[in-house]
Amino acid sequence: MSKDIFAKCSAYRDHSFLQDAGLYPYFRPIDRVEGNSVYHKGRRMIMVGSNNYLGLAHDPRVIEAAQKAIARYGSGCTGSRFLNGTLSLHEELEEALAKFLNREAVVIFSTGFFANQGAIGTLLEADDFILSDRENHASIMDGCKFSDAKCVTFRHNDMANLRSKLEALPEAAGKLIVVDGVFSMSGDVANIEGLVAVAKEFGAKLYVDEAHSLGVFGVGGQGVTHSFGQNDNVDLVMGTFSKSLGSMGGFIGGSKTVVEYLKHKARCFMFTASLAPAVAAAVLKALEIMQAEPERMQQLWKNTYKMHKGFREMGLNIGITKSPIVPILIGSETKAFMLSQKLIEKGIFTTPAAYPAVGYGEAVLRTSYMATHTEEELDIVLEAIDKMARVMKIREGVAYNSELQIKAKGFDFTEFMTK
Ligand code: PMP
Repeated sequence: MSKDIFAKCSAYRDHSFLQDAGLYPYFRPIDRVEGNSVYHKGRRMIMVGSNNYLGLAHDPRVIEAAQKAIARYGSGCTGSRFLNGTLSLHEELEEALAKFLNREAVVIFSTGFFANQGAIGTLLEADDFILSDRENHASIMDGCKFSDAKCVTFRHNDMANLRSKLEALPEAAGKLIVVDGVFSMSGDVANIEGLVAVAKEFGAKLYVDEAHSLGVFGVGGQGVTHSFGQNDNVDLVMGTFSKSLGSMGGFIGGSKTVVEYLKHKARCFMFTASLAPAVAAAVLKALEIMQAEPERMQQLWKNTYKMHKGFREMGLNIGITKSPIVPILIGSETKAFMLSQKLIEKGIFTTPAAYPAVGYGEAVLRTSYMATHTEEELDIVLEAIDKMARVMKIREGVAYNSELQIKAKGFDFTEFMTK
């Protein structure tokens, strides 16, 4: 008799323990959104867990552009870019992004995840190597898995370790170094200058995922490759529309030849429906506003520094963040879930991140900030977290080592079960 491939699903209980205890922190439905406020179970809450860094997802001009696009093109493209799904709007957006980023060409994917999976998964061959920072996003890891090339991971932002990994590889082999520009959980920033130097030394190509740096870093919000003055030395940039640009979708920017190749070879570009008209129009408008209103980015950084300082002053460990992503390091998963739940009860919407999003036993409360947060809202957040951290005895000193990378045995709820 064949093995029942669904048996593991019936045996899977991790989430139900938490649900029974009223601590399940995921899939919390939002009924309504008013700028920085969301309504959950009829209650208004301050959102501090969103990647809507510039607050553009709710800008009336962005919403109007989306509405007009629906009226003109309909609700969806109902086909792939390759066939019936290319709108003039898509091409306009690709051109606008290429100009903004000073890249020869750009290709849009339907999600940021697809952009990483498509580019990394398509560009390399069996005798090539991908060198990937250990803390890279899941979509990069999946791109590596998808690729025929061998994937070698290196210690987070550790150039000596990267060099030693490269030294061990055949000199003539093709090599691609891939990093997050801003790391999505720790908020750390990639050592772009170091990476450029190592890539040059070993003749490797360099790929930077600007998902969390677009609209946040660089004079005009072009990302970390620009903020370090290294745009010409980074071969490919990837970005998403799901963060500063307030919508969804992703892109790859590079040379015309690489972009043309991806358009004809990346299966998750060719065999999926193209970006919906409302989305493409919203992103185009958001990109325009982002460039016209640099004060948004300035305000984002003002808010970010306020929160970094506030949390540090209250003795919380926010790790190595250098960005609006501010994780509060808790360690214990149970405590992180409890803190998140308590904050929900106090009208603050934020979520924990646990293994495998972070290292095992390194759970965090992942908070993130927006240009549109007011002083008053941020003070409410600081006060509530300070109060709860005291009650729950969460303070500086909690073990956090982004290199710990203990090989997990799975999602361990034993600690929770004994409480
Ligand atoms: N790269 C990074 C670094 C991310 O954090 C994310 C999503 N959080 C993605 C890629 C995938 O982007 P999207 O959600 O737009 O598909």
